[in-house]
Amino acid sequence: MAFSFNPFKKKKKPATQCSICKSRMEYEEGSILTSSQIITSNAFWDKLMVEPETLSYTKAHFESQDAMATKMRGMIFNKYSEKDQAWIVCDSCIGMFNVEKKQVREHARKWWETNKTFRPPSCGKASEQMDDQEYQTVKTYAVMQAGERFLK
Ligand SMILES: [Zn+2]
Repeated sequence: MAFSFNPFKKKKKPATQCSICKSRMEYEEGSILTSSQIITSNAFWDKLMVEPETLSYTKAHFESQDAMATKMRGMIFNKYSEKDQAWIVCDSCIGMFNVEKKQVREHARKWWETNKTFRPPSCGKASEQMDDQEYQTVKTYAVMQAGERFLK
């Protein structure tokens, strides 16, 4: 195929960033997940709670039972669990989540086709979409336990 410059060519399809690792994603790439699907992954919390921005709270929470640090972890949990929009997740991050791969890929295709407006079923704040007891279990793990195994 020869390269030819065409000034009237349509604008390039938009790209985006992975909602989790912020790596660049091209048109039609990735998977679409809901906040409930994101927060039920312990692997997601283990990773998030030892990132540079959160590590100091995690250390203080486990090593000195610092109540303020635990509170901060709770605020971090709320920030992610209360995200109302769908999450676009890249192929390297998707492994952390226990989801039907074919279905979340299909949702991504729809999301791109609708100019990033498609909402998968059960999209929205996790506290409004999940069973109360399940939500509390997930929250307890995220706030009280996540990241501990990486501190040893
Ligand atoms: Zn990613």
